[in-house]
Amino acid sequence: MEQRRVLLIEDDADIGHLVSLRLGRAGYVTDHALDGHIGLRLFHETHPDLVLLDIGLPGIDGWGVLERIRDISDVPVVILSARGLETEKVRGLQSGADDYITKPFGHQELVARIGAVLRRNSSHDFDQESYTDALLHIDIPRREVLVHGRSVDLTAGEFRLLLALTKHAGQVLSPEQLLELAWDDPTGIGASKVKFSILRLRRKLGSEGPATSPIEAVRGFGYRYRVLETSDLLGHSG
Ligand code: CA
Repeated sequence: MEQRRVLLIEDDADIGHLVSLRLGRAGYVTDHALDGHIGLRLFHETHPDLVLLDIGLPGIDGWGVLERIRDISDVPVVILSARGLETEKVRGLQSGADDYITKPFGHQELVARIGAVLRRNSSHDFDQESYTDALLHIDIPRREVLVHGRSVDLTAGEFRLLLALTKHAGQVLSPEQLLELAWDDPTGIGASKVKFSILRLRRKLGSEGPATSPIEAVRGFGYRYRVLETSDLLGHSG
């Protein structure tokens, strides 16, 4: 199997060196950029499988780098930041980052998180025509949704909501973002409407409760479609 390539954008040379070393032992090839401009150049040159992004960078900061990457790519981005503030975390996730790690972090944790993000991003397949993961298959042109191979009846609105969530799988979407993405005319519609639609959609997808549903509520922030893997669906035995 081809080695996974990680682009690390981090201005602290020591941290950069240690992380590269540790990721190398875990089987990743790491390219290290010391600032945002070099990072973006390397991004174009090396086509990484994942970006590890420091926020406090000289010149263009991590937020600017993330925005530019998101303009052109869905590559998984994990933010590394010394700022452990809840608001920073939310900003990261809402800006399209896939995970957020606060410094100082253990290298085992880092490797585990990178592995989880990469798995999450490779266990589903999205294109113009369809979406597929271990639970769902969506045929977009035919507006057909299969759960475990069985067809589910969704209203047009529920279908758009599900599509918006799966398109941004792994990312937290606020009720406002969901209104924009899934409602024809979101004017005057509030967050509670989104909540009810989510609950209805969850039921139609056949989930007994929040723990087994692919649609996760992130309290105070919004909702996230969690790509379930076969092991999640089978449950853990021992
Ligand atoms: Ca820094």
